Amino acid sequence: MLLNNIKDVKTIIQQWKKEGLTIGLVPTMGALHIGHASLIKKAKETCDRVVVSVFVNPIQFGPNEDFQKYPRTLKKDEELCNELGADIVFAPSAIEMYGENTGLCNNELTFVCPAYNIVDALCGKSRPGHFDGVATVVLKLFNISKADYAFFGQKDAQQLFIIKKMVKDLNLDIKIISCPIVREHDGLAVSSRNIYLSESEREQALTISKALFHIKELYSKGIKDTSVLFDSAISILDKNIELDYLEFRDFSTFEKAQMAQENTLVAIAAKAGKTRLIDNIIL
Ligand code: AMP
Repeated sequence: MLLNNIKDVKTIIQQWKKEGLTIGLVPTMGALHIGHASLIKKAKETCDRVVVSVFVNPIQFGPNEDFQKYPRTLKKDEELCNELGADIVFAPSAIEMYGENTGLCNNELTFVCPAYNIVDALCGKSRPGHFDGVATVVLKLFNISKADYAFFGQKDAQQLFIIKKMVKDLNLDIKIISCPIVREHDGLAVSSRNIYLSESEREQALTISKALFHIKELYSKGIKDTSVLFDSAISILDKNIELDYLEFRDFSTFEKAQMAQENTLVAIAAKAGKTRLIDNIIL
C-alpha cells in the first residue's frame, strides 16, 4: 500500500501495535535495486509487518550534490515492494516531512547532531552536514513508523555506525539490523548511482571493489600494516578514478587503525567521472 502522509501511516501502525505485531522499517531513497531488496527480504523474515520508506531527503544533500538529478522511480519501487511483500511503501513529499520550508533552511529545523568525531571523518569530511540530515530523517522515520527493527546496509558503513550510535546515545527502543553488501556478478557494489556511469566509467569503477578485495587477500596472507595495504590497493585503482579517501578504521570504535585486524573497516570513496561511489569491506 502506497501512502504519502504521516497521519495515514500512524493510524495503520497504531492498529498493528494494538494487535501486538512487530514492525520492521527499511529506509531508502528509492530507485530500488537488489541491494534494497535484500534488506526488505530480511525485514520480512524478521518482522510481522514491513514499512519501506522512499524519500529523497533534501537535507542530506549539499548544494552542489545530485539532489535534483537523483533517480526517482516510485512506480517501479512500489511494484518491487509489493512483490517482496512489504505492507506499506511510505513516500512522503519534502513538505510532508519538513513543512512549508521543506527543511532546506537549516536554521528553521530541529536537527540531530551525530557524534562529531565520527561525522568529521570519511564521507562527512567532503559532505558537511550530510550525516546531520541523515540522522534527522532517520529519527523522524523511527518515530513515524514506531518500528521495532530497522534494516540498514553495510554498504553505507559510516551511516550504519552513526545510526547505531544514535540509537544507543539517545536510548531509542529500536534494534538496528545490519545487512551485507550486495554486489554485481563482477564485484561492483550495487548502487542507485551506478546508472550514472558510462561503460568506460563502469570499468574504472570496478577497480574500487578490486582494490578492496586485494586488501582482503593480502590481509589473509598476513600483511597487517595499513600503509602497505593502502599502497598496494592504490596501485590497483584505475588512474582515472579520483580518490576521496581509502581508510582503515576499527569498526567498533571508528578509530583509525594502524594495523589491520579482525573487524577493521576498510572504506573507500572515489569518483568515476562525476559519480561519487562508496564501498567497503570488514576484515
Ligand atoms: P539508499 O537508498 O542508497 O539511501 O539506501 C537505502 C539502504 O539500502 C541503506 O541502508 C543502504 O546501505 C542500503 N543499500 C544500498 N545499496 C546496498 C547494497 N548494494 N547492498 C546492501 N545494502 C545496500
